[in-house]
Amino acid sequence: MTQVDILVLGAGPAGMAAATEARARGFSVLVLDENARPGGQVHRAVEQREAKDGQDRDGAKLAAAFRACGADYRPNATLWAVEPEGKVFWSEGGAARSARARRLILCAGATERPVPIPGWTLPGVMTVGAAQIALKTAGLLPEGKAWIAGQGPLLWLYANQVVAKGGRVEGIVDLSPPGGLARAAWHLPNALRAPEYLVKGLAWQQRIRNAGIPIRRATRLVAEGDGRLERIVIDGWSRSAELLLLHDGVVPNTQVTRAIPGCAHDWDAAQRCWKPRLDDWGNTTVEGVMVAGDSGGIGGARVAALAGRLAAIEAARALGKLTADQRNAEAGRIRLEWKRQRAPRRFLDALFPPLPEAAIADSTIVCRCEEVTAGKLRGAVALGCLGANQTKAFTRAGMGPCQGRICGPAVHGVIATARGVDPATVDPFRTRFPTKPLTLGELAALAAE
Ligand SMILES: Cc1cc2nc3c(=O)[nH]c(=O)nc-3n(C[C@H](O)[C@H](O)[C@H](O)COP(=O)(O)OP(=O)(O)OC[C@H]3O[C@@H](n4cnc5c(N)ncnc54)[C@H](O)[C@@H]3O)c2cc1C
Repeated sequence: MTQVDILVLGAGPAGMAAATEARARGFSVLVLDENARPGGQVHRAVEQREAKDGQDRDGAKLAAAFRACGADYRPNATLWAVEPEGKVFWSEGGAARSARARRLILCAGATERPVPIPGWTLPGVMTVGAAQIALKTAGLLPEGKAWIAGQGPLLWLYANQVVAKGGRVEGIVDLSPPGGLARAAWHLPNALRAPEYLVKGLAWQQRIRNAGIPIRRATRLVAEGDGRLERIVIDGWSRSAELLLLHDGVVPNTQVTRAIPGCAHDWDAAQRCWKPRLDDWGNTTVEGVMVAGDSGGIGGARVAALAGRLAAIEAARALGKLTADQRNAEAGRIRLEWKRQRAPRRFLDALFPPLPEAAIADSTIVCRCEEVTAGKLRGAVALGCLGANQTKAFTRAGMGPCQGRICGPAVHGVIATARGVDPATVDPFRTRFPTKPLTLGELAALAAE
């Protein structure tokens, strides 16, 4: 079995920065990532494209330093289990493998929140994130009668990226509740510590307007069609459509941390999601397990990279290479910049609150794998179900191939609103290892190892 000092999950900004920092301190580092190349979500395929903006330049620099740092980087490697004392299992090249690490730094990133509207399971309806991956990896732009709908910074970023590449969409349906600026105004002074975020956001919106793309605020959206998307209905106003790209923000990917016994998670009321309980350095409530980046709470690419470095410096303290004072001194400037980059977060959370689950119609499918509707979930609550796991037993919601990875936040939200209680008191889906599907053949390879 492979033995290393530090195992890093994920080669996004957090993982790349953590690995590079740890290598610079002389640790042996193993990095697992399920994608073919480093970059994660934000810097996806950054090595394959010309760095045209600040974000791409950040990504190219991070990836180059990561490639050069000497970490044992395993692309196409999917982690599916973590056991006590730093034992980790993953699949790579059709075989399962294991390693033991003195410290784990988990940087699994974020996933998109589901957007259960009527008709969202029709062919022709997908997420903005998926469309952005097609754009970043293959330069694909939306074609035909394409609409973008929902809320959140990524929606505006993607629309801006489409326009910047000479693409076009029929329109944007803004489903965010009105009064965003009034809600966020309280947080503006703090957000201005990193004004570049607000300037960028305003520039995206201006570019979209200059391109003449209609933006329509709405409260209800329906996708319709016979066997595939044919039209969308925006507050009763029908428009023909061939492609609908939905987005409702991102949430921490907690699939792995929620499966680790004793790894506590807390409800974040502003971001309406569960996240692991972390100290200032990224230590979880399980000795030896750390988290950095968006899987520890949504902060964005630059915050993720800085958090990765802080976690690696703390790992050096925990593994006896630095005293606490030396750690604090070495991390001083990084932490200051981390705090500055995080400053706009509360402003953005208030400006872009997730869509209300209470508005999901009873007939709308929430769990796509098992085709469980919101009405069926509410029925289970009426029968006395209190949380996601009991509701899973009554309805099969979350029992399908995605194991609740996609529908989890929506199922949780529907139950909490149906019960009329604080979502923090409703348990989310329990996750168990293996958190990703694997074949018996892969497992058999482990015996040989
Ligand atoms: C679809 C999507 C698109 C986004 N696009 C942008 C954007 O364009 N600009 C922006 O500023 N922000 C974007 N974000 C926000 C993004 O989360 C952060 O900006 C940033 O990428 C977070 O960095 P990270 O290192 O924490 O995670 P990520 O960059 O997400 O990296 C995590 C990596 O871990 C891998 N991973 C996760 N679980 C496993 C596992 N079990 N086994 C192996 N590998 C695993 C993932 O595949 C990924 O490569 C996007 C988020 C999403 C969900």
